[in-house]
Amino acid sequence: MLRDQIAVITGSTSGIGLGLAEAFAAAGCRVVVNGIVAGNEAEELVRRLQLQHQTEVIYHPANLADPEHCAALIRDAEAHFGAIDILINNAGIQHVAPVEQFPVDRWNSILAINLSAAFHTIRVALPGMQRRNRGRILNIASVHGLVASVHKGAYVAAKHGIVGLTKVVALENIAHGITCNAICPGYVLTPLVQKQIDDSAVSDGISKEEANRKLLEGKQPSGRFISVEDIAALAIFLCSPAASSITGTSLPIDDGWTAQ
Ligand code: NAD
Repeated sequence: MLRDQIAVITGSTSGIGLGLAEAFAAAGCRVVVNGIVAGNEAEELVRRLQLQHQTEVIYHPANLADPEHCAALIRDAEAHFGAIDILINNAGIQHVAPVEQFPVDRWNSILAINLSAAFHTIRVALPGMQRRNRGRILNIASVHGLVASVHKGAYVAAKHGIVGLTKVVALENIAHGITCNAICPGYVLTPLVQKQIDDSAVSDGISKEEANRKLLEGKQPSGRFISVEDIAALAIFLCSPAASSITGTSLPIDDGWTAQ
């Protein structure tokens, strides 16, 4: 269904973004991967995805904390492939601290990468999508775009912000056949969450298993993490023709977290 469509996926060298890159390449898309990597990790990832899925994959090194880099990611993708059909804003970072102790530089970085970067990629991608009257934009928000948790002030603010931006972009582009939706996952065991578990084990003097249980307790009634593959399947569906009337939504995939 998505064969030969061009998908740009930010933060796709790890975790959820990597799972999305795998799924969209497997669905036949040509994919632009992006993320902060060391050494020749990017070349190896590109080679593996191309070989495995027999499709074209390129890497873009944009640092999404910089608005100019965000714009360059979109412009370079359009220059290389001629157009962008699917834009997925996924890159994100986390920092956990009470508001009165929250480091100002961490606040600024989280707002820049988790929220403003999506504004900058979307604003540059829209004119091309509008000209062609087609496009799918997905923002990987979080349950923290819908509800809050303590010590995540910047993250919760950024994720609520991206849910709002999603609605505006959706409304402004209905006449162009462009949809914009947010996916709101519960906890997924990626490096972003593993760091929270490791830090909490050290600060609370408990085992990693106990820290793991504490993280999920009262949040995901299943006691399980959400799988990257399930999130990718939802993303693929939202980019399919069957989802052409789904726009401006924020869809939780959270094992019941936000039903409580
Ligand atoms: P991750 O740490 O595994 O991956 C983050 C990706 O973003 C990496 O590819 C990294 O290189 C990239 N990135 C970070 N800073 C960047 C920058 N300045 N420029 C370009 N790329 C940058 O994290 P993840 O858990 O896979 O999270 C991906 C998204 O999903 C984030 O937006 C996160 O908020 C969201 N999310 C995660 C969870 C979870 O439980 N893991 C739950 C809900 C939402």
